[in-house]
Amino acid sequence: MSELIKLTITEARDKLAKKEFSVTDLTSSYIKSMEQNRGLNAYITETPEIALKMAADSQSRIDAGKAGILEGIPLGIKDLYCTKGVKTTAGSKILDDFTPPYESTVTQNLWNAGAVMLGKTNMDEFAMGSSNLTSAFGPVKNPWKSKSTDEDLVPGGSSGGSAAAVAADMAMATTASDTGGSIRQPAAFTATVGLKPTYGRCSRYGMVAFASSLDQAGSITKTVRDSAIMLEAMASYDPKEATSANIPVPRFEKALTGNIKGLKVGIPKEFRIEGTPPEILKMWDDGIETLKRLGAEIHDISLPHTKYALPCYYIIAPAEASSNLSRYDGLRYGNRVPGDTLDEMYENTRAAGFGNEVKTRIMIGTYVLSAGYYDAYFIKAQKVRRAITQDFTDAFKTVDVIFTPTAPNGAFSISNPPSDPIKMYLNDVFTVSTSLAGLPGISIPGGLDNDGLPLGLQFIGRAFDEETVLKAADAMEAAIDFNNKVNEMRRA
Ligand code: GLN
Repeated sequence: MSELIKLTITEARDKLAKKEFSVTDLTSSYIKSMEQNRGLNAYITETPEIALKMAADSQSRIDAGKAGILEGIPLGIKDLYCTKGVKTTAGSKILDDFTPPYESTVTQNLWNAGAVMLGKTNMDEFAMGSSNLTSAFGPVKNPWKSKSTDEDLVPGGSSGGSAAAVAADMAMATTASDTGGSIRQPAAFTATVGLKPTYGRCSRYGMVAFASSLDQAGSITKTVRDSAIMLEAMASYDPKEATSANIPVPRFEKALTGNIKGLKVGIPKEFRIEGTPPEILKMWDDGIETLKRLGAEIHDISLPHTKYALPCYYIIAPAEASSNLSRYDGLRYGNRVPGDTLDEMYENTRAAGFGNEVKTRIMIGTYVLSAGYYDAYFIKAQKVRRAITQDFTDAFKTVDVIFTPTAPNGAFSISNPPSDPIKMYLNDVFTVSTSLAGLPGISIPGGLDNDGLPLGLQFIGRAFDEETVLKAADAMEAAIDFNNKVNEMRRA
């Protein structure tokens, strides 16, 4: 049964329909894989009993000819989606005993489409991080190893557990979330496909909030086609969520025509950032050549405010986080550490419940929102955000999609990560501007660095035009033929 865990959603869907195996066979193979790969620490909670029950129900729907679009597909769920009756921690000690009484809209949509839940995946605490090192449940190991050392590497973050689970065949696909790059960067580090849809495409109802104007649900999958299928299942208009967009959800898979002749692709000159390793620049240039070969038109474009995106993000995201995380007061949600007075109880609870990265962000956030600095930082950052969005609006007057690398480096060591926090924040340099502008972006495996570690390529699209993003990524994925390329390099 071990070959079952190698299948894509698309393949499994067809084979389940032909009854080549049952949903229970498929689910059991994943349960075994989760057990065998526990050393990676990709899951915080495994839910095998729930999985087997859902698998049996799913099989009866297939037998009755009532299969949904994700019927029988075993998924891992990032541990910031509330799952009714199943512990949901957001990677934090403060929620290590929190069992939600309700289900997030995105996960409910997935179950309605027939999917099976394998468990809840590990993540950076409250999705703050690029490495999974901030999780209160220990780091996740990347299934990839460098050619030169045997050191354990990070899978990226914050959706590191979701990315590692897909890369190590511990789930056929996973949900993830992206506030500044947390789907795309871990996808790049693990040679998986990570799609961050347009802000508003998927409901945030029941997702533990980090920065509400940026948080967006998305997926990590093995292929672009699987990503299209996942998005169709996850997306919906949700009256329960004020920023959910009331627009129809297309059949995204239909957009994958393989034909990108005449597609206008923008290459932003500001993304040629000094210090980017030559192998990443080369992979990007090779990608541009591939796009030309496929008949796309290449346009040089300018996104002039790119260099302000990181500082802007690291004001807005902590500001919103400091406000969102005020709800963890020891009274309403999560753990409580008693004190002699109410204030002392707040202090004790938050001191014990939050890790250092979260505390840092809360302090930055309250500082930039404080009366004396609100105009200088928060208001300024909001204006910069507007300018960044305008850059994209202008660019999309001439191009259909933008093409860039995903991250400025590959996976780094767990025991020896960048010591300077600014260096860690630089991981988001190619992804944050998309998040600030609320646009869709996808990362696909692009190649390997000199250490044999995966690197990602990114397509960014117009708001609510995931179809073009998916179409371009799908054509590129076929042209790059990453898995064959890796096998060839391994043989050489
Ligand atoms: N790495 C970024 C941060 O730490 C992005 C996180 C995310 O997208 N959730 O804020």
